[in-house]
Amino acid sequence: MLTNDELAKWDRENFMHPSTNLGQFARGEGSQRIITGGDGVHITDRDGNRLLDGFAGLYCVNVGYGRTEIADAIARQAHELAYYHAYAGHGSEASITLAKMVMDRAPDHMARVYFGLGGSDANETNVKLIWYYNNIRGLPRKKKIISRWRGYHGSGLMTGSLTGLELFHKKFDLPLAQVIHTEAPYYFRRKDAELSEEDFSAHCAAELEKLIQREGADTIAAFIGEPVLGTGGIVPPPKGYWDAIQQVLTRHDILLVADEVVTGFGRLGSMFGSAHYGLKPDLITIAKGLTSAYAPLSGSIVGQRMWDVLMQGTDEYGVLGHGWTYSAHPIGAAAGIANLNLIDSLGLVENAGTVGAYLQKQMKNAIGDHANVGEVRGEGMLCAAELVKDRDSRSFFDPSEGIGGKVVAAMLRRGVIARAMPQGDIVGLAPPLCLTTAEADTIVGVTAESLREVCG
Ligand code: PMP
Repeated sequence: MLTNDELAKWDRENFMHPSTNLGQFARGEGSQRIITGGDGVHITDRDGNRLLDGFAGLYCVNVGYGRTEIADAIARQAHELAYYHAYAGHGSEASITLAKMVMDRAPDHMARVYFGLGGSDANETNVKLIWYYNNIRGLPRKKKIISRWRGYHGSGLMTGSLTGLELFHKKFDLPLAQVIHTEAPYYFRRKDAELSEEDFSAHCAAELEKLIQREGADTIAAFIGEPVLGTGGIVPPPKGYWDAIQQVLTRHDILLVADEVVTGFGRLGSMFGSAHYGLKPDLITIAKGLTSAYAPLSGSIVGQRMWDVLMQGTDEYGVLGHGWTYSAHPIGAAAGIANLNLIDSLGLVENAGTVGAYLQKQMKNAIGDHANVGEVRGEGMLCAAELVKDRDSRSFFDPSEGIGGKVVAAMLRRGVIARAMPQGDIVGLAPPLCLTTAEADTIVGVTAESLREVCG
């Protein structure tokens, strides 16, 4: 067996890590952690640390680590049929069963699910289907996609464009011309301090409508958004936001894509964020919680009105020219079935609602009055504390101080993983949905101590 030092050296010398400062890592600076195991809400590393994973990996290990039911299902599938493609009507018992389970859980007006590998490729699929749809309808100019600043929709060329975070655009020649961004529904950071939540939602809808009118509704195909902004800061929508936005979209014949990569399969305490907030999307993006990340699998759930046109298109033009080798991979599908069964049998959607609410309440009690906490917010098993320099004026720390990162690092030293969300000093939490109240107490205690260590 390799020693820790050997493994660390191989890592620094060979592995180009995602979302990592490449030079620092190669020079042996910056963080490096080699994970060896997981059990429930905890992971262990090669240095012998046992850490409470308050971010469920990348908000994806929803059922927690070490679930033998899923591991066994994967092993059984690998022995029986590790792979066959899904082109030209091929399938496996696992992929067909999972499709049925997804559609049984999806909102009523959804018609079919197309399987991919990860959230990014599922959103690429969505954009292609949207363009195909408008071409079939004889609207070849209606192609632009509106996304929100601070939205996160992936790292590909199109999906990195949809993502509304500067880091994902800068030096990559993104966003692509077909993508435009509108205001983030970020009530805490609204410019006018006097605006009520409802008025702020109306303002976001009015901004959207202005953008549509400026560009021409005949050029706008779709609007994409996460029911709760995730990577952009864990920001639940202000009151009335989705109603107001949907009214604008309907007026201008614009499709709605609900990116439920984070919110799908229970994280908000509802099976889907769309049901939670009364959205009627034309497409729903799913990934992460579909398999709890035990194997890579994603999906695009297609609504009836798009499905009808897609069928018309292939009747006229033949086979849909869109497929991945690994679409509906049987091992991913087997993991998905076992995962969804566990979510049901353990009541994890309900647990996300109740323990998530407890986590948020206790967090507010513990740090809500701290001079440097502007807001504690969340929904279901998503919780964030936004740090500010001054509460009254809602002024922010200089980003170069990295206060959010320092609090998260202090939490890690105490054995709890949180995430410093990009663009702001925001401590993000998205634990596995099986979190207990005792584990929630640990997270809250560690957050409070770490905050005091960094901010006093
Ligand atoms: N959409 C959302 C809302 C996400 O949070 C993510 C990943 N964090 C993605 C899409 C992209 O998924 P992936 O990283 O699996 O490509």
